[in-house]
Amino acid sequence: MMSNNLGLYIHIPFCRSKCPYCDFFSMRGDEQGFDEYTRILKNNIRHWGQRTDKLVDTIYIGGGTPSVIGADRISDILCCVRESFSVLDKAEVTMEANPASGKFFDFGKVASFGINRVSLGMQSADSDELKALGRLHSTEDVISSIKLIRNAGIQNISLDLMMGIPNQTKDSLRKSIDFCVEQGAEHISSYILKIEPGTIFDKRYDNYNFPDDDETAELYLFAVDYLAENGYEQYEISNFCKTGFESKHNLKYWTLEDYLGLGPAAHSFLNGKRFYYKRDLKAFESNITEDEGSGGDAEEYIMLRLRLSKGLDLRECKKILGEGISEKLAAKSQKYIKNNLMELKNNRLFFTPKGFLVSNSILADLI
Ligand code: SF4
Repeated sequence: MMSNNLGLYIHIPFCRSKCPYCDFFSMRGDEQGFDEYTRILKNNIRHWGQRTDKLVDTIYIGGGTPSVIGADRISDILCCVRESFSVLDKAEVTMEANPASGKFFDFGKVASFGINRVSLGMQSADSDELKALGRLHSTEDVISSIKLIRNAGIQNISLDLMMGIPNQTKDSLRKSIDFCVEQGAEHISSYILKIEPGTIFDKRYDNYNFPDDDETAELYLFAVDYLAENGYEQYEISNFCKTGFESKHNLKYWTLEDYLGLGPAAHSFLNGKRFYYKRDLKAFESNITEDEGSGGDAEEYIMLRLRLSKGLDLRECKKILGEGISEKLAAKSQKYIKNNLMELKNNRLFFTPKGFLVSNSILADLI
């Protein structure tokens, strides 16, 4: 909450091809397009650098596929960030990479410009599942990328896993988790596949053998237990890590700290205001943001805190939101506690893994 620190999100909207489940703002690009986008991005970075004196303690370069534009442009962007903002020496600086382009990427170069964490879009260690997801990489690509990242001195690696992939079983998920463990990933994001409107998975839903809701729920609950057995503590609905390796940047989203998102479709929460750039390159070039009003109200506070495994501190809640709201919350949560969907321990109210699966409908009732 009130702090003088800032998280910076930088969106790189390019991918080699479009995955059938993805509705992020991304497109194909060529060298000229990458240069042009880097120029626009740097203009906007300078613009914002002049408008805040907050100290940047996290930078997250996401996409799209940032590795697609190459290490020189990423380094150039990072230089521009450091010239425009005050970046703390100990800042967490993450970039996303795709294992298909990662194996050709100069991680040594970006490490020398401050990248100290890489998030690899691995999704699965099963070749049929990767094919179903339209991914262009293999597990060997993941292994080579990890080797390059570690050799570059970057010792904080996050791997993405997906649950609910066509034909996925508990056994195949176990193998994917085993793979992450063998690779020594410090952090694992494990998301349930959501069929977004307009994506290929949505349009051709019947052509795929998706696990049903119950099967997907089982996969999720299995992943939570199996990851814990292997030393990965769950700290958010979809995020797990070895001790001390939580994503500092992503934690800002859930604890209502300031972050500034630069790029088409990037969202910001700055000085109590929410705003975003449209999914439109032209609007980003003109640096036009859309106002989303004020943020951080009681509803948001409760909703975001409850995404975290440690949940909501009812004493803090009382201090910030008043006695009425926290008492109402404690009373309303009783029925969920009885059904093992929530727990109340040491004044903290939090979801159980089973509760996380239905957290949206519980939250709708609670707030
Ligand atoms: S690589 Fe990532 S951002 Fe690009 S299309 Fe696939 S899922 Fe979307």
